[in-house]
Amino acid sequence: MLGATGQAMYRCRVCGSETERAAHCGTAARHERGFAALTNDRVNLLSSLLAGLIAYGISLLL
Ligand SMILES: [Zn+2]
Repeated sequence: MLGATGQAMYRCRVCGSETERAAHCGTAARHERGFAALTNDRVNLLSSLLAGLIAYGISLLL
């Protein structure tokens, strides 16, 4: 869910395909949408942190 909204997407200048990487086909891709600082790795990290917090919260309630 985080990935769909905030994740940076890039358009390759060479082949024109959309990618989540800042570089494609050996060249820097054009930033198209999303937050440039929010890379896929960070989205995954945030998601697992969030999941951990939620699990912790549930464990406190039980
Ligand atoms: Zn490409």
